[in-house]
Amino acid sequence: MENEGKKILIIEDSELQRKLLNRWITNHGYIPLEAMNLSEAREIIIKDQIDVVLLDWELPDGSGIELISEIFTSSPVGWLPVIMVTGHTEPENLKLAIEAGATDYITKPAKEIELLARIFSALRMKSLHDQLRETAIRDVMTGLYNRRYMEDRIDQEFQRCKRHKHNLALAMIDIDFFKKINDTYGHETGDIVLKRIASELKSSLRKSDIISRFGGEEFVIVFPETGLADATRVLDKIREMVSGLELNSESGQTFKISFSGGIAGGDISKIETPLDLLRTADKLLYEAKSSGRNRIIS
Ligand code: GH3
Ligand code: MG
Ligand code: MG
Ligand code: MG
Repeated sequence: MENEGKKILIIEDSELQRKLLNRWITNHGYIPLEAMNLSEAREIIIKDQIDVVLLDWELPDGSGIELISEIFTSSPVGWLPVIMVTGHTEPENLKLAIEAGATDYITKPAKEIELLARIFSALRMKSLHDQLRETAIRDVMTGLYNRRYMEDRIDQEFQRCKRHKHNLALAMIDIDFFKKINDTYGHETGDIVLKRIASELKSSLRKSDIISRFGGEEFVIVFPETGLADATRVLDKIREMVSGLELNSESGQTFKISFSGGIAGGDISKIETPLDLLRTADKLLYEAKSSGRNRIIS
């Protein structure tokens, strides 16, 4: 079943109702998660990757409607389909819920078959939304994040790490003599080099590191919760490995590649803005280039 394993969050204060919804959901291969009130629900939404929310209207610590607007304005997870499951049967309430951002609405007592049909439809919307979002934030050639997304993430991570007084390192790297690779072996081979470097970065860095293709042959990496020395060590290892690779051109010739990088940050307490962080990394990258290339300067 294509939807098997999707996570459905049941937000409901009545235990009887929760058990009933839980059983239906489980029977159909979905994974149920339960919250008895809004504050439990908030935690689960942040922590687990929820696919659909079933939301009761009245809860001990507030109204479900509040949570909908919260999910839409401040959720780090992006869009989430919300199905109201409620005893409020008046059309005015349906209007209110839909206007607040609910995807769908069913009245209690819900019927199993109806609930499942609505979940199916909500999952379809979620999947379309996720596909759209992916194409909006990714670079097609390398599959890395694109510049627009990276700029947003730099702002977010900078604010977050500053608030918690945590480390944040940022690296800017640029392929050495890339124009020559294009000129000598052709643009297609140049593209292969870009994809190869992207995949080396992806496989060597941590999941929490954010990697982007920032420009044509320029990559920006954000290392949250990472000091300057650690980020430098990791990136330098990748640099060394990449400079040892033997690549093959479209026409079968063997050649080598390298990149240079500048890393800024670590302790960001004295750095004023995300732009300053980027500028410093760029300046250090320039130093790495002018002092001989195939090196990382931090
Ligand atoms: P340096 O070591 O100083 O960085 O030299 P460089 O030749 O790498 O730098 P330069 O900025 O002069 O050249 C960048 C080249 O990257 C020029 C451009 O044609 C090429 N490029 C940019 N985007 C792409 C792409 O998507 N595919 C390919 N094949 N080449 C690209
Ligand atoms: Mg209730
Ligand atoms: Mg360049
Ligand atoms: Mg270059």
